[in-house]
Amino acid sequence: MDNKNDKNNKNKNNKNILIILLFGMAVLAAFSFFSRNLFAGRAGSITYNEFLEIIKTKEVEEVVFNEMYNRISAEVKEEGREVIYSTAIVDKDAALDIIKDRNIKYSGTVVSSSSWISIALYAIFAGVMLYWMFSMRSGGGLLGGLGKSNAKVYVQKETGVSFADVAGQDEAMESLVEIVEFLHNPGRYAEIGAKLPKGALLVGPPGTGKTLLAKAVAGEAKVPFFSLAGSDFVEMFVGMGASRVRSLFKEAQQMAPCIVFIDEIDAIGKSRDSRYGGNDEREQTLNALLAEMDGFDSSKGVFILAATNRPEVLDPALQRPGRLDRRIIVDKPDVKGRVAVLKVHGKNVNMGEDVDFQEIALATSGAVGSDLANMINEAAILAVKKNRNYVTQADLLESVEVVIAGKEKKDRVMNEKEKRTVAYHEVGHALAAALQKGSEPVQKITIVPRTMGSLGYVMQTPEEERYLMTQAELETELVTLLAGRASEALFFESVSTGAANDIEKATQLARSMVTRFGMSKELGLMGLETVTDEYLTARTVMNCSDQTAARVDQVVKEMLDQAYGKAKALLSENREAMEKIAAFLIEKETITGKEFMKILQEIKGEEDPSCHPEL
Ligand code: ADP
Repeated sequence: MDNKNDKNNKNKNNKNILIILLFGMAVLAAFSFFSRNLFAGRAGSITYNEFLEIIKTKEVEEVVFNEMYNRISAEVKEEGREVIYSTAIVDKDAALDIIKDRNIKYSGTVVSSSSWISIALYAIFAGVMLYWMFSMRSGGGLLGGLGKSNAKVYVQKETGVSFADVAGQDEAMESLVEIVEFLHNPGRYAEIGAKLPKGALLVGPPGTGKTLLAKAVAGEAKVPFFSLAGSDFVEMFVGMGASRVRSLFKEAQQMAPCIVFIDEIDAIGKSRDSRYGGNDEREQTLNALLAEMDGFDSSKGVFILAATNRPEVLDPALQRPGRLDRRIIVDKPDVKGRVAVLKVHGKNVNMGEDVDFQEIALATSGAVGSDLANMINEAAILAVKKNRNYVTQADLLESVEVVIAGKEKKDRVMNEKEKRTVAYHEVGHALAAALQKGSEPVQKITIVPRTMGSLGYVMQTPEEERYLMTQAELETELVTLLAGRASEALFFESVSTGAANDIEKATQLARSMVTRFGMSKELGLMGLETVTDEYLTARTVMNCSDQTAARVDQVVKEMLDQAYGKAKALLSENREAMEKIAAFLIEKETITGKEFMKILQEIKGEEDPSCHPEL
C-alpha cells in the first residue's frame, strides 16, 4: 500500500511541477514582452545611423543606455510632444561623443529589481527543468507518468472484515463462500481441470452492503483487496483509462491471489450502443477491461468483484460467460435481515434492557444496511446527549425518525392557523388508517416540523412485514393517503398545499394498480408500464399507445376521486373523534398510538357501548 501511495504522490508531484513550469514560462514570456516594449519606445525601431542623426540634430532631453538589453534610447521633444527613439547599441563611443559634444543629459540602467525577478525566474525555470529531467530518468515517465494506473487504487493487505460483519444477506453470502474457497486454494481447482470463475457482479440498491461483502470475501480468504471506482478510470484523454486498466491487472496478477473490486462499474461498463450516449474514452476503457478479463489466467487466483445499482445499462459483453458471469443480488433486507443488521451494529454499543430490535425493524421497512447502521449511531449520540451511558428503545425510535424525516426543527414556529391545519391533516390520515379495516395501526402522530421538510407526519408500524398487497389493501391505502386533504376540506374554508406529497404518492399508486397490477376493469390485465431502474429510482416508462395512456389517466382520476369521496365520508362520520384528537395533538404536538386509540375508543364506547373493543 505504501509503495503504491508513493507512486501516486510522485505522479501528483510531477503534474504539479508541469503546471508550475508552464506558468513560469508564461510569466517569463509576458515579462520580457513588456520590458522589451517598454525600452523599445513608442517610435519603434530605427537604425543606429538614424539614431545618431537624431541625437545630433534634434532637441534631446535625455539618453538612456540599457546594458541589460543592449539598447539605447533617446527622449526627444518633437512639435511639443515627447517621443522615445530606441535602437541596439552598435558603437557606444560614437553616441557618447555626440552626447558630450551637445551636453545632453545621459544615464544608464543597472540590472534593476525587476531584472532580478526575471533572473530568479530563469533560475527557477532551469531548476525545474533539471529536476524534471532527473525524475524522468529515474522512472517517472513522460508527463509524470500519465497513463499509469494512478487511479485511486486502494490496496489493503488485510481488510479485517469477515462474513460475521455482514448481516441479512444470507443468499449473497452463500454464493460468495465458494469464491473464498477458490481463493484459498486456486491450485486444487486447476488440478482437476475445473474452469475457475473470473468474476461476479454484485447488484443491488445503494447502502445494502456490496462493498462490505467484497471486503468480507477478501478478509475471509486473507488476500489483498484492490478497490477502485469505475469513474476513476474515466479521464479526459482518450486511451488513458484503457492503459490504467492494463496496469491495474498487471499489478493484481503480481499480487495474486487477490480480489479486485470495481465499485459503480456502470461508469465504464455502460452499454456501447448509443442509447445511453457514446463516449470514446469510456468505450476504449471498457474494451480494455473486456480484453484483460479474457486475457488473465484465473488459475492464479485473481477474482474480480464489481458492484452496480444499474445492471440494466451494463454492456452485455461484460456479463458473458468467462467474465462477470455470476450475478449476486444484494437486495434490501427483510425484517429478519434488518434485525440481524441492527444486532451486528448494536454489538459495540451499550444497549438498555428495554431495547427491542424487532420493533425497530418493523418500523423501518425499506431501510438498507447503511440506514440501520446510521440509526444505531444516532441513537448512541442521543443517549450521550441525554447523559446516559446506554441506549434505550426511545432513543432508537427517535433515531429512526431522525434518519427517515430529519431532526426536529424546534426553532421553526408555525402560526396557530398552520398548526391547526397540519394537525387536522395528520389526524385525518391517522383516523382513516385506524377506521378502515385491515389498515396498519398508528404508532405516533406529530406536528413538530422536521429538517427534511415535513411539517408533521403519522408513523405507522405494521405488525409484520408484507410482501404481497391485496387490491382491497391498496384501495384502503389510497383512502388513507387522501384523508389528509379530505380532513382539510371538511374542517377549513380552504385547503392548503400540504397534500402535495400525498397526492403524488396516491397518483403513483393508482397508476401502478392500473398499468402494472391489472387491477382495473377498464384496462384489464394489460401490462402498460415497465420499471426501468429497479434499484435506484424505480422510474417507469409507459409502453402503450397515446389513446390508451389517455384512458389510463381517466381511470386513475376516477379511482382517486372515489378514494377521496370515501375518505371524506369516513371523516365526516367521525367528526367528534377528529376534533378531539386534533385538539389533543395541537396541545401536545406529539401523540402516541396508545393515546390516539384511547381517545378513539372512548368516543366509540360512548356512541355504541357494544362496539368492538379495539376501536
Ligand atoms: P454499498 O456498497 O452497497 O453501497 P456499503 O457496503 O458501502 O454499501 O455499505 C455502507 C455501510 O453500511 C457499511 O460500511 C456498513 O456499515 C453498513 N451496511 C450496509 N449493509 C450492511 C449489512 N448487510 N450488514 C451490516 N452492515 C451493513
